[in-house]
Amino acid sequence: MLDFLGTHQRTNTCGELRAADAGKTVTLMGWVNRRRDHGNLIFLDLRDRYGITQIVLDKEISPEGHPKAEHIRPEYVVAAVGTVRLRGADAVNPKMTTGEIEIAATELLVLNDSKVPPFSPAEPAISNEEVRLKYRYLDLRRQEMQNNLAIRHKIALAVREYLNSQGFYEIETPFLTGSTPEGARDYLVPSRVNPGTFYALPQSPQLFKQILMISGLDKYFQIVRCFRDEDLRADRQPEFTQIDLEMTFPQQDTVFAVVEGFMAAAFAAVGVALPTPFPRVTYDEAMKQYGIDKPDLRLPGLTDVRSIFTAEQLQTLAVDPALPVVALRIPKVGELSRKERDDNRPLFETKKGAKYIDDLKRLEKSFPEAVTNLRELTKAEPDDLLVIVAGDAATHISASDTKSAGRLSEREIAVLSAAGNFRVELAKKYADRHGAFAVTDSVVQNPGTPSALVDGALAFRPLWVTDFPMFEHDPETGSWQPAHHPFTSPHEEDMDRLVSDPASVRARYYDLAMNGLELGSGSIRIHRQDVQQQIFRALGMSDEEARKRFGFFLEALQYGTPPHGGIALGLDRLVMILAGASSLREVIAFPKTAKAIDLMVDAPSTVRDEQLKELHIRPVVRG
Ligand code: ASP
Repeated sequence: MLDFLGTHQRTNTCGELRAADAGKTVTLMGWVNRRRDHGNLIFLDLRDRYGITQIVLDKEISPEGHPKAEHIRPEYVVAAVGTVRLRGADAVNPKMTTGEIEIAATELLVLNDSKVPPFSPAEPAISNEEVRLKYRYLDLRRQEMQNNLAIRHKIALAVREYLNSQGFYEIETPFLTGSTPEGARDYLVPSRVNPGTFYALPQSPQLFKQILMISGLDKYFQIVRCFRDEDLRADRQPEFTQIDLEMTFPQQDTVFAVVEGFMAAAFAAVGVALPTPFPRVTYDEAMKQYGIDKPDLRLPGLTDVRSIFTAEQLQTLAVDPALPVVALRIPKVGELSRKERDDNRPLFETKKGAKYIDDLKRLEKSFPEAVTNLRELTKAEPDDLLVIVAGDAATHISASDTKSAGRLSEREIAVLSAAGNFRVELAKKYADRHGAFAVTDSVVQNPGTPSALVDGALAFRPLWVTDFPMFEHDPETGSWQPAHHPFTSPHEEDMDRLVSDPASVRARYYDLAMNGLELGSGSIRIHRQDVQQQIFRALGMSDEEARKRFGFFLEALQYGTPPHGGIALGLDRLVMILAGASSLREVIAFPKTAKAIDLMVDAPSTVRDEQLKELHIRPVVRG
């Protein structure tokens, strides 16, 4: 039998009461986390968002409540009225914040019962993720998920407060809109009142935020949902949240200072110090030093070791002398057995036309001097893993060798990125040995402690990557694609090569990377209609097509558009890093699976025929 709530009111939360509250009469409400029956005494651990408090039902003190407690099971919702009392010395639980006290209940109300849950929210880890997602409401009761959502809230609030303090307005932009190109497919929404036409859900508010600058709003931000229909990976979700901003008359540095400010505020909000300003590197330097455009600075980068070999030695090793020869170093891995080296083979991408040498003992037999120089150049300790990566003279990949002044050629990038990706994979595999990631785990597990404040600088390594190439060559179609989106401004001094030498054009495009993840991207935008038109043309888009897709925007550009620029950072990724979570699904209240399914709601789903008819849609395939 369930009880009515009547006029009862909660006086305290389950995480609040301490020894100093002894003697107070209180009413707590929450879920039964665990029940222990000791005959005349029944103990209930009562749980809410704030913590757990022990309730005691003593047959003597609560002759009515005690028999009710005999029938209570986990996840029942109860209200306990009683007196706070100190626990006996041997019953104090130092692991609980409320561990010094308990509530001697005089009254117990059973407000609701519960089916036996498929898993207990009291369990710290549940291995079956599908069950967790299906019963997300139970999963979210778990301490870990409550913490993750608390971190998310604190970060979003800190960002809002900081941006507000800098004069940014939060302005909403539409979800039912036209296509906004960010390189993914659109989610389409059919229009009932305009048969045969569709809205697209925004891949980002890109064009709207630029239009807000044209409208003179000066500083815009929004913590906003974006929708991208693409093949999902562990760190992607079909709908995700961006911290999106745009400013009028900025230089790149102006945008960086704003982002550094809100990042430091967000980290501070969860008790971690993040020193500013962040270091910077150009895209070309990032590729040379790390072989990747989102470097993890917690480990050493690549070393150019071309000089340790003579031309004949390179020939003997079947290494292409025209391409980079670099070494990667992972500290403290120790010498690898032959089997371990064999096991690592699939981690290296051979398709990029690169090869690697990881058997230094063998190399040393033929070229002892080269190996001595290698150790010196890379500053390797004896137990560090060293691997040389170079262009394979035997497998020439068909990529461009064109090299414009000061830039890397596509083939050079291919070799460097083979090295960079191998470095990332080996770093992941040998994390226990090099220990460079452990400091991050320890900081996220102990936020607010003095060590988290000191080690923040080691644990989180932000890096601005600037001056990306303007275009990427798509070998399949033979066309040029924008490296960011087509509204990104080229460097003013590179503009005259847009058509004659697109590969050499640098974009005013920047990324913020942290610990090997891309946290955000942005750019200084094109603010002139003539330049925008040139870019569309350089991308192979006819004036006609450009007008059809972005006519409204090209029109708006003609009415006094100020120079402007901005950036968007992934909120989910930021929270994931600070919560020490293994996937985005751990920091989103209601995420989708890798197949873009919401298991709780069971979406997407088929709809009634009448609904389709109203939308003027006839499906060809039925699920
Ligand atoms: N709209 C871009 C994106 O979503 C960010 C930007 O350029 O501000 O990546």
